[in-house]
Amino acid sequence: MVGETILLLSPHTDDAELGCGASIAKFIRQGKKVYYAAFSACEQSVLPEFPKDILIHEVREATSELGIRPENLFLFRYEVRTFNYKRQEILDDLIRLREQLKPDTVLMPCLHDIHQDHKTLAEEGLRAFKFCNVFCYELPWNNLNFNTAAFEVVAEEDVLCKVKALDRYKSQAHRSYANEEFLRSQLRMRGVQVSRRYAEAFEVVRMISE
Ligand SMILES: [Zn+2]
Repeated sequence: MVGETILLLSPHTDDAELGCGASIAKFIRQGKKVYYAAFSACEQSVLPEFPKDILIHEVREATSELGIRPENLFLFRYEVRTFNYKRQEILDDLIRLREQLKPDTVLMPCLHDIHQDHKTLAEEGLRAFKFCNVFCYELPWNNLNFNTAAFEVVAEEDVLCKVKALDRYKSQAHRSYANEEFLRSQLRMRGVQVSRRYAEAFEVVRMISE
């Protein structure tokens, strides 16, 4: 992946790990600077058997499993499914992150992701970071189509990091995609497309060469 300072935009805690967790582990292994910003811990949709703020604890554990430093984690507290009502506030937060972190590369959900929060964050993300490299990560259950334009080839150790990170989300274990079988299948499928063992695919929105 191009760039040395990477900012991950995750609408909800766990989206960025699901979309590109193995690539994140690889970037950190390569010594790139990685920041993670999540915009909702989904307190309103946590199952009743868990504490409402459980995702805040889980995202700290999961990102640390990937090697992200605690000080590089930014958590905003927007209510799930209300991002489109808070569009300008989210953009203001993104612009503050841009000024503070000065990333050269931003990874975010697809511009046509069908989850309303994902779509809003992608649109505001592009608005805030139009002068950066911008790539979109894949969340197949929310993507009607996905243009596999870029591939990040990853190693078994990166795949294991992704599996371990997502395993930290005990409150999300009921999701059909939250298991090693699915995660490895997706990594294998994208690997086969480029004749490698494992890969993650990205849409390319902007790529700037100096
Ligand atoms: Zn999400």
